[in-house]
Amino acid sequence: QPVIVWFRDDLRLSDHPALHAAAKTGSPVICLYVLDDTAGRPSGAAARWWLAQSLRALGAEIAARGGSLVLRKGPAAKVVAELARESGACAVHWNKIAQAPHQAVERQLEAALARLGINSQIFPGDLLVQPSAIRNKEGRALRVFTPFWRRVLSLGDPPKPLPAPKELRPAPRLASDALESWKLEPTRPDWAGGLRETWSPGEASARARLRDFLKRTARVYVGDRDRPDREGTSSLSPHLRFGELSPRQVWHAARFAAAEEPALGPGIEKFLSELGWREFCRHLLHDHPNLATENLQTNFDGFPWKGDKTALAAWQRGHTGYPIVDAGLRELWHSGVMHNRVRMVVASFLVKHLLIDWRDGESWFWDTLVDADAGSNPANWQWVAGCGADAAPYFRVFNPQLQGEKFDPDGTYVRRWVPELKDMPTKLIHQPWQATPIELASAGITLGKTYPQPIVDHARGRERALAAYAKIRRS
Ligand code: FAD
Repeated sequence: QPVIVWFRDDLRLSDHPALHAAAKTGSPVICLYVLDDTAGRPSGAAARWWLAQSLRALGAEIAARGGSLVLRKGPAAKVVAELARESGACAVHWNKIAQAPHQAVERQLEAALARLGINSQIFPGDLLVQPSAIRNKEGRALRVFTPFWRRVLSLGDPPKPLPAPKELRPAPRLASDALESWKLEPTRPDWAGGLRETWSPGEASARARLRDFLKRTARVYVGDRDRPDREGTSSLSPHLRFGELSPRQVWHAARFAAAEEPALGPGIEKFLSELGWREFCRHLLHDHPNLATENLQTNFDGFPWKGDKTALAAWQRGHTGYPIVDAGLRELWHSGVMHNRVRMVVASFLVKHLLIDWRDGESWFWDTLVDADAGSNPANWQWVAGCGADAAPYFRVFNPQLQGEKFDPDGTYVRRWVPELKDMPTKLIHQPWQATPIELASAGITLGKTYPQPIVDHARGRERALAAYAKIRRS
């Protein structure tokens, strides 16, 4: 009798506890992915593109081991149970997802399988530590990162990653949807050219990227991780988001690299603590399923956000007149990703300078990021807005010009993404509005025509943000 392995946000063969256990039984293995837009938040467009590529890569890896990937669509609990009945499976294996809507589906599936007399085998999911292991005195998730991370570290290394099965005993052929019929990829217009240029989804590329990071970039991580003009970070986030790598694979590979070359130690520790932020966000999401819609700090519920659609559209398209902000949003639109430092700057600009609700920015990121993550995206937006856990204080308003000058000192990043400013002298690249008419003319720029005037004055925007904040503090 076959065993079904239900794949979800774990699109890999190595360190996949559910698959590992299924392969060990010696039974035929049915690999299954179910497209279910009702379990959890439906993916945005960029993430759907990634999912299609990643499923293709997973299907090829499974086929290379003698198996095949079955694709089905619909409410997951019903679809998985039906396939189990249809195939005469003796068990269904899956790795759990510690998020309320997914857990609800898991419970439904367990009940449906029990009714059919089929065994459910549930394995730990993609976290270094399960949320139940790190709780405060009231039994809730920790709201401050540093003690959270200290507790994770005090638990020691997570279990060693499991190897991928060398072969999979094929199961009898089962009907499968054609991936193309799911229409995950855009056709007309095909806006995914920038994504194809930038990314190579799938487990093999994820592992290659991790190796490359540990070999080359980890040594400059401490100094360069805040520099959008350099390759100073790992670019692993979408691979982690789709589970093409598990965090414990990353953890062990990083620790091994630091043991081999002690000079990498500080970079690796910093890098692992960033992985800790991913974990922190997911633990928060576990306790706060409405993280994307509800302020964690409820005093923000009465915040006087401005519903300015024109300003929101200018921000989304990268036409704010602040070069670092525009560069970030154009990078996002083209490549489905944005450097972390710039994410903080553009998010701060939206919620503080434009007084636009963080949820509008979060939704835009959700639709356009290839790494859009149900925990990290809302948790970071709330962090920037000042209403989240361990949040940056609201009164800390980033000055986009100074952020640009500090983290993109030669303007390389801005020139790449805002080509109309490419001939601007470096001293003016982050403040084109200060250029004289002669300087603008020799750089080929007409402010307000070829590049926008700032849509809000920094000092005025800052004052307005602080006044709005003072209002909710008083209330
Ligand atoms: P590295 O610096 O190499 O870090 C390694 C890994 O640690 C990342 O791949 C990621 O998994 C994790 N990580 C790093 N920083 C953070 C962080 N602040 N919070 C949570 N995890 C982190 N990250 C997402 O994965 N998905 C999102 O939807 C997302 N939305 C964000 C929204 C805003 C407003 C902000 C400020 C940050 C957001 N981040 C999000 C966090 C961060 O920007 C990205 O994880 C990071 O830029 C990915 O690049 P990297 O893989 O090169 O990071």
